[in-house]
Amino acid sequence: MQVRWEYLTPADFKALAQKEKLCILPIGSLERHGEHLPFGTDALIVHTVAVRAAQQEPCVVFPPYWFGQVHEAACFAGTVNFNQKLLLEMLETLVDQIAGNGFEKILILNGHGGNTHFLQYFAMSQCDRELDYTIYTGFYQGERFNAVPWETQLQGNLGGHADEIETSLMMAIAPEAVKMEYQKFREPVDPLYDTSSLGVYTGYWWYALYPEHVNGCPSLASREKGEKALEAAAADVAEMIRKLKADTLTPSLQKEFYKRMRNK
Ligand SMILES: [Zn+2]
Repeated sequence: MQVRWEYLTPADFKALAQKEKLCILPIGSLERHGEHLPFGTDALIVHTVAVRAAQQEPCVVFPPYWFGQVHEAACFAGTVNFNQKLLLEMLETLVDQIAGNGFEKILILNGHGGNTHFLQYFAMSQCDRELDYTIYTGFYQGERFNAVPWETQLQGNLGGHADEIETSLMMAIAPEAVKMEYQKFREPVDPLYDTSSLGVYTGYWWYALYPEHVNGCPSLASREKGEKALEAAAADVAEMIRKLKADTLTPSLQKEFYKRMRNK
């Protein structure tokens, strides 16, 4: 079943939008993933998961959206950052445009850890304006995905970036884009500096911990593990879609909130 926005024809798009009312916006980044993975890794993974999930629980899937928060990788080639104001404005315009095409619900499905706080702030900031649609944000890794027994994690390293997990997923999605011969860093990659003793937040914490943008053990990756993980993630996201389609609480809360906002 075709669920990808960019491949749909007008009649099929309209039928799917009108019936399901939900669109997934898969968001990642353009960011260094060590030396062996492509810059688009996060968006490619989350888009693939969204498409597989939507084939189980139908909805429309927007093309991969590359422009997330990735200031922590500003010192590396391949990174594209927009200034904060533009980043938020682009996302706001995009969700309005998506909704204007006949959707009542938009799930911004995240594939890049660095987007988490940015997306939560974005979602919260939308309370200021009256929308005729509902915005949700979520991460593609759910219960089934987290139950996958990754070797690195069993060894006590959490991993999480250009690691066994992301490398396996990319081996399943685009094997030709994975260049294991370029992975020369010691594994698991040890943090270089530790800023936690300062007891405050610094924008350089990620760079301090993972200066080569590898966290974990990429050489433990395999295509088979990637396939299993994709299947688990797709089942997790399909369940998320089912719940959001059935959700009447959030839209009714929105209406109540707007009413009080108008009469405050
Ligand atoms: Zn990543």
